Amino acid sequence: MARIGFIGLGIMGSGMVKNLVKAGHQVTVWNRSSTKYSEIEKSGAKTVSDPEQVLLDADFFMYCLADDAAINEVITAGHNLAAKVKAGTIAIDLSTIDPKTSQAEREIYEKNGVQFLDAPVFGTKGEAANGGLWIVVGGPEATYKQSLPVLEPISQTTHYMGIGGNGTKMKLVGNLLVASQLLSIGEALTLAKKAKLDLRKVLEVAAVADFKTPIYAGVGAGVIKGDYEVNFPLKLMLKDAKLIQAFASTLNSPVSIAKTTEQLAKAGVDAGMGELNASAIVKVIADQSGVDLVE
Ligand code: NAP
Repeated sequence: MARIGFIGLGIMGSGMVKNLVKAGHQVTVWNRSSTKYSEIEKSGAKTVSDPEQVLLDADFFMYCLADDAAINEVITAGHNLAAKVKAGTIAIDLSTIDPKTSQAEREIYEKNGVQFLDAPVFGTKGEAANGGLWIVVGGPEATYKQSLPVLEPISQTTHYMGIGGNGTKMKLVGNLLVASQLLSIGEALTLAKKAKLDLRKVLEVAAVADFKTPIYAGVGAGVIKGDYEVNFPLKLMLKDAKLIQAFASTLNSPVSIAKTTEQLAKAGVDAGMGELNASAIVKVIADQSGVDLVE
């Protein structure tokens, strides 16, 4: 049993906390807004009103926050928790952020004798709820191994990617693949609809042929029902499209898919779809072509 201080009760953090408690860990949670406290308390987690309180007696300090601005407001400046964690604690950032922000966190932690892992996750609401995320980890290998008792209850796999920063970089590489699949299923379904194909049959083929993916299957099934219930908000996809481009530009690597994703996601967010699922990018593509994908 470990004592865990946890910050962030969003779509992802809420599921993570429940699974950490279920695994027998003692979890103390802070969230910016307290609206989700009563539900998380039912799971057995303790909640506090001051973020610094999660650090008291913590073996692990874990957090899953929206973006770089949130990390800045809570961890590296603002509440400035990175500077307040006691030496010997292991800090684990599960958010998707810019590798530069991750590096800034690492520098503060290392100065204070705190081991740090960048450990962003693949998977979405369902995987977070079921303890079935795929985690990619950067940092000292010994720290990674020491952290497995708190990473395994929230994941189906953990991949050690190497030195600090490599988890964050892998997450952006993976999200480029996610973006490419959202764009391709959007354009493919739009083309199929214009060609008067039956979209149910199109998806039947896409579910078995050698280009099948869980994203095509999941997104496709939702889109033809007009179901954009949020798992991964479109506004976060927009954030990630920008992060991928900023990261790629430091390496002079082409990411035309991320650029197109940013344009389409921005159009969706501007049209009021930011809180819908990222699959709404398919709706943006269809809308721009004057096509309705609901069957
Ligand atoms: P979310 O539901 O929007 O939750 C975001 C969390 O960050 C909430 O706890 C929110 O607090 C907190 N937050 C945001 N801005 C803040 C600020 N300025 N100060 C303090 N707290 C702040 O997001 P999520 O879907 O859980 O995603 C969390 C992270 O995981 C993101 O980096 C995302 O890219 C990544 N991720 C998400 C998914 C997914 O499918 N959802 C999948 C993989 C990775 P409040 O409750 O007070 O707003």
